[in-house]
Amino acid sequence: MKKLGQIIDGWSKLALDKVAGVDPLIRKMADERLQICDRCPIRSGNRCDPNKAGNHVETHAPTRGCGCILSAKALAATAECPLGKW
Ligand code: SF4
Repeated sequence: MKKLGQIIDGWSKLALDKVAGVDPLIRKMADERLQICDRCPIRSGNRCDPNKAGNHVETHAPTRGCGCILSAKALAATAECPLGKW
């Protein structure tokens, strides 16, 4: 249920951002997250690719991408990178 709330939050903010813009602090957070995603090998376009895997930065456990659309996920304050990068 937590993940569903994050998905709804992210997509709602993405829609708002297209129309009127989101809170500047949320925009800054999302931009910083997306800069990290830009350098991540499991990113495929605008998606955290579930067919690719990397190691979690803290546990070092092999972990697959979450499958989320990054432009929406990055706007959800409580969302987390599956590899622990943000
Ligand atoms: S959310 Fe994390 S694992 Fe997914 S593309 Fe961004 S940095 Fe990589």
